Amino acid sequence: MTETTTGTPHWVLAFTLAAAAAVAPACATTQPQPPTTADEAKAPTEPPSQASMAPKLVVLIVLDQFGSWVLNEHLPLLPSDSVIRRAYEDGAFHTAEFPYASTQTAPGHASLATGVAPAVHGIVANSIYDTQTGSRRTVDDRKHAVLGNPKRFVSPTQLRAQTVADILSEQTAGAARIVGISMKGRSAVLPVGQKPNAAVFYDSVARGMTTSTFYAPKGRLTEWLRDFNKANPVEPLLQAWEPEDPARWEQHFGQDDRAGEMYPAFPHDPREADDPWYAFSGTPESSEYLIAAAYAAVKAERMGMDEVPDFLALGISGTDIVGHVWGARSWEYADNLSRIDRALTRFVRLLEARGPVAFVLTADHGVADLPERAIAEGGTGGRLQSKTLRDEAERAADEALGAGDWIAGYVSPLLTYTAAGKERHEDLTRALDKAMPSVQGVRAAYDAREGATLRASNRRIERLVGASLPDDPPGDLYLVSEPGWFDAISENGGTNHGTPWDYDRLVPVLMWGTAIERRTSEETLNVLRVATTLAALLDIPPPADAPKSPLPGVMRLPD
Ligand SMILES: [Zn+2]
Repeated sequence: MTETTTGTPHWVLAFTLAAAAAVAPACATTQPQPPTTADEAKAPTEPPSQASMAPKLVVLIVLDQFGSWVLNEHLPLLPSDSVIRRAYEDGAFHTAEFPYASTQTAPGHASLATGVAPAVHGIVANSIYDTQTGSRRTVDDRKHAVLGNPKRFVSPTQLRAQTVADILSEQTAGAARIVGISMKGRSAVLPVGQKPNAAVFYDSVARGMTTSTFYAPKGRLTEWLRDFNKANPVEPLLQAWEPEDPARWEQHFGQDDRAGEMYPAFPHDPREADDPWYAFSGTPESSEYLIAAAYAAVKAERMGMDEVPDFLALGISGTDIVGHVWGARSWEYADNLSRIDRALTRFVRLLEARGPVAFVLTADHGVADLPERAIAEGGTGGRLQSKTLRDEAERAADEALGAGDWIAGYVSPLLTYTAAGKERHEDLTRALDKAMPSVQGVRAAYDAREGATLRASNRRIERLVGASLPDDPPGDLYLVSEPGWFDAISENGGTNHGTPWDYDRLVPVLMWGTAIERRTSEETLNVLRVATTLAALLDIPPPADAPKSPLPGVMRLPD
């Protein structure tokens, strides 16, 4: 799989415009089935329990791109029995911040799992510059192939810090059941790390849920996964997406078709995309399918059934893909979230019926508004093209150092120099520090080798950039955009994240269930405390360099 230099999701480029006149086949659908009727009958309907006992299962739910402002936008639209709404109103609720600048998915999941910043765990971005391919995903080690797609590789080998799940495995001598699951590879693998019982993700070539040879060295899917794929084929789920409640969305958001949206109006049909199996990840069906797979994993691995606590990390990616294409203030985002919330609410009730379980729901980063919308409302914003950034850097380098080939490439947020450029690192960096901020939408440039100095700065923005940079950074110059500006994901519009600005960095943390009590805080807390919180709930020591205290709301239980 190739990738553009900004880490553009492929399907976005492949997803063709849905014909406005297309008629949605509302019938003939084969929905994935998280709860069977028998399961449902057993599920209690009361709000999340707050029993003061140790959880036998701890569940981390990461809603991709679900920033604090996104929660605020959508909270009034969620039904009263919504598990997200119930947690907000009755559980522990905090606003938390990522204490670094590179607010992308891979660093977000790695940080939540390890309790340390990218400077320590080494996952700086989703993708880094690669001399051979131009760009390479950080979970792509070129070694551990995906089952059913031998050209794609996924593993956590680039992660340099222990995850809470790694510690759980160690402390229980492998007795704890540990599962990471997501539509995205990085969001399944990074939250669990080295030794889960399963790290499962979707692959559009395999056309189902799969794993890599890192987790399945014999190259064979476990039985429950084979059974799930057999019982839940993706093809019947490829169907036109129609909004469930257009009148409600219109009342809240105005018209469906808005400037800046990549594919303006409903319906959206993945079958019209170049690769429908890739486009599937941007549909509400895909999240229902994912949650069904998560429940299949819980049952097959018998999670939460014995005295040793188990850990499930569920990465819901659909919110991110839909958010990139239509923005968070869109009919599509609301419709997708409403369906995810419903599936999640049923899933949570089923888990609660199995025994004592604690939930922590948060996000890996937030997102910017669509620039067209931000500008119309008096704000700022725009899209940075990676080619422009590279060309401007090359031009400034030629001017300062003489004509040559100085810039190898740009993979957000880092410019990488050629070998000749690296030889003149100091001169080149000095020239670019000065020149790059004159490119529209670029705020500042920082020497990527100066992570330690930046972390000690008395300027917040510099500390955030420094916390993103290990001492051996995978690039040479760190670019920070102006507020509202981001790396473009497409020529057709859409939005992105990845900046140190609050809309990207602030996320909610919602906790409920066993061993959780109602607590809220006025101030913004460090999101790295999620790792410490998970460890406290699992009754194991937190990762060595993680914050010392769990988030308020974790009950102190008698030994
Ligand atoms: Zn993400």
